[in-house]
Amino acid sequence: MEFVTRFAPSPTGYLHLGHVYSASLAFNAAREAGGRFILRLEDIDTTRCRPEFEQEIFEDLAWLGFDWEEPVRRQSDHFEDYDALLSVLFDRGLLYPCFCTRKEIAAEIARSPSAPHGPEGAVYPGTCRNLSESVRAVRYEAGEPYALRLDMARAIDTVDLASLRFMEKDKGWIACDPAPFGDVVLARKETPTSYHLAVTFDDAIQGVNHIFRGQDLFQATHVHRLLQALLNLPTPLYCHHGLISDGRGRRLAKRDKDATIKNLREYGYRAEDVIKMVTYG
Ligand code: GLU
Repeated sequence: MEFVTRFAPSPTGYLHLGHVYSASLAFNAAREAGGRFILRLEDIDTTRCRPEFEQEIFEDLAWLGFDWEEPVRRQSDHFEDYDALLSVLFDRGLLYPCFCTRKEIAAEIARSPSAPHGPEGAVYPGTCRNLSESVRAVRYEAGEPYALRLDMARAIDTVDLASLRFMEKDKGWIACDPAPFGDVVLARKETPTSYHLAVTFDDAIQGVNHIFRGQDLFQATHVHRLLQALLNLPTPLYCHHGLISDGRGRRLAKRDKDATIKNLREYGYRAEDVIKMVTYG
């Protein structure tokens, strides 16, 4: 099987050293395997993505010495594909509309102090899960915005959960356990998809069979593995790598201006030294 991997940044800020780590692991693995390296722009959040960040991603990666296949897939060009997947899940009764605002969810959670916490924070209390069809119809009619949530319990019931697992580099097989996430959002009110849905589908449709990404996304893989089972998509191999931290031991984020590649480049560092900074300890 041909080795296919990818680097999938979101153009919501400048790339930093953590991105270089992901990209170089993927790029080098593809080169060693004689396989393919794909660049994908995860730009579903059209309010936060900006063309200047996109341009800078191309420039930084080229400066670092990476090359990738053209054309580059932009998720915002594929909202119809995600919509088709949502219809499939909706028709199987696995999604429901959630009209709650953030404030309402927070208030509901505050009312029940024992509300469970999952990997993405407090678990959605299920307020809209059991709305009757007639109530839903009235609220649709009134034009109330809604998100689409996965009914996690039902979704788990439709798969053979005990047989679901994924292979993690250096750890081996990991049993899939998506329940702690609760009813995750698969389409947002303002965005007709979500990270979980778009990334899972795109990796499958692009034939990606090796994924390198930060440890912060390890838990999300449980949701992705469930979606693969529900949508009959293949499961890649995963390598969730350690996160690069700043001088104070905090994980790098887009707000850390000093560690952006643009900044290091303008400061006069050489590309090979920037790569060594992350790959050799
Ligand atoms: N787009 C995500 C990010 O920039 C990465 C997604 C992934 O590698 O699965 O954090």
